[in-house]
Amino acid sequence: MPKVSLKRPLLVAIDGPAAAGKGTLAQSLAARLDLPYLDTGLLYRAIGKLMQVAGLDLDDAQAATVMAKNLMPADLQRTDLRGREAGELASRVAVHPGVRAALIAFQRDFAHGSRGAVLDGRDIGTVICPDADVKLFVTASAEVRARRRTDELLAKGRSVDYQAILAEVQARDARDSGRVEAPLRPADDAIVIDTSSLGPAEVLATALSIVENWHKTH
Ligand code: C5P
Repeated sequence: MPKVSLKRPLLVAIDGPAAAGKGTLAQSLAARLDLPYLDTGLLYRAIGKLMQVAGLDLDDAQAATVMAKNLMPADLQRTDLRGREAGELASRVAVHPGVRAALIAFQRDFAHGSRGAVLDGRDIGTVICPDADVKLFVTASAEVRARRRTDELLAKGRSVDYQAILAEVQARDARDSGRVEAPLRPADDAIVIDTSSLGPAEVLATALSIVENWHKTH
């Protein structure tokens, strides 16, 4: 795939609920635009995992905030951050305002590097980078997201129950959208991409055309 050349630094914010395809899009878009990419979910996943390993209570805001303040780049390299369990732990520690505050500077520094960047998460367009050039909100129905996740796990040979996955997806949506601090919502100037009936290549093509359009008009 040829890279798209940019005339100036470009900051792309991608938000959306779990399993909507935003990570896949963010990664492929960053590769096509030759931009650094930060998966901000990893920050919250690492904190949740470190809390669990240390035997700490995930609801302990103070302990979670200390963990967030001491987070090291090497913690993001842990190999146990990708699964569903780490996602659950992440969404529990992500409700604490102190945790979110401790992670702001790192994310903004990454975003404002000389070439620009692609960041994905829940609050990138609303809180972390309200100044982003292009804001995308990638979503799909809870049923479609649960079906995709179930199929992914089945393909890996795991035995999974669609109804249980759907309940997990809905619970995570409720926690991420219902929290007081930086709830999941599209920024007013975000462009919504509903991936319910789109494959990854179509989602990438849609995002690239939005970026190209932005580029032509700026
Ligand atoms: O995107 P991912 O599934 O890795 O995120 C895990 C959890 O981390 C989310 O459900 C959410 O609670 C939290 N998160 C967040 N803000 C971000 C990224 C992730 O609150 N920018």
